[in-house]
Amino acid sequence: MITFKCPTCSHKLKAKYSKIGQTISCPVCDEKIKIPILDKCPNCGEPIVLEGKKQNAFLSQNSIALINEFNEKNFSIMCQKCGTNPYYNTINKIRDKIKELYEAGRTLLNQVPIVSTHSPQNWDYNVLDIVTSQTVSGTGFISDIASSFTDFFGATSGTYNQKIKDSEKLCKQILRVNAVNLNANAIIAVDIDYSSVGKTTGMLMVCMTGTAVQLKNTKEVLEEYRANQLTELISSMEEIKRLENILKKESSRK
Ligand SMILES: [Zn+2]
Ligand SMILES: [Zn+2]
Repeated sequence: MITFKCPTCSHKLKAKYSKIGQTISCPVCDEKIKIPILDKCPNCGEPIVLEGKKQNAFLSQNSIALINEFNEKNFSIMCQKCGTNPYYNTINKIRDKIKELYEAGRTLLNQVPIVSTHSPQNWDYNVLDIVTSQTVSGTGFISDIASSFTDFFGATSGTYNQKIKDSEKLCKQILRVNAVNLNANAIIAVDIDYSSVGKTTGMLMVCMTGTAVQLKNTKEVLEEYRANQLTELISSMEEIKRLENILKKESSRK
């Protein structure tokens, strides 16, 4: 808060820092008063200079709110001298937090149920949308096999099976990512298709489709541990979206 006097009737007035520069009416004499512009930063005492090389302006209320939220501080006003470093540290903190949430989300993602059933028993859910994923196994498929004699004569199908398994695993993960992006926590009616790409390349394509759903009674139909992990996953995804939005807004402001 800043305090100042009405120039007409000398009535003492108080205003929030965020109101600096705005015009108000004096509650006593009804005179229009412009809330005084401060010449010093009340936080660090540095002079406020709005032009020239030694420029030092106030930080926007949005930037200060950001610093406060992520550092559990309660600044009401900051200038570039005292606020620029905390501001950029906060932006870095948000970036680190997003990275951390993604890292944790990768493990939690494995808990998203993928079932081929069309309407699993006792599941209470909202249908969100169809989700799909495709993977094509690497071009090294043939040379992988040919380079190994054991594979070539004995366990060729072993390598082949491993390729399919890896592709399926990757497909499932992509399917889960796409579902979670829609705020889903489970995928039902999943179908898998295999096809070879080209005649001689030996590349294998795996396609998966399913229906992303929002399972409501997770605690009833899943193990407790799994249900909790799903709740955690959904809330971390929401937090990631919120933080990414903040960064987007901050970068568009610059
Ligand atoms: Zn007055
Ligand atoms: Zn300052």
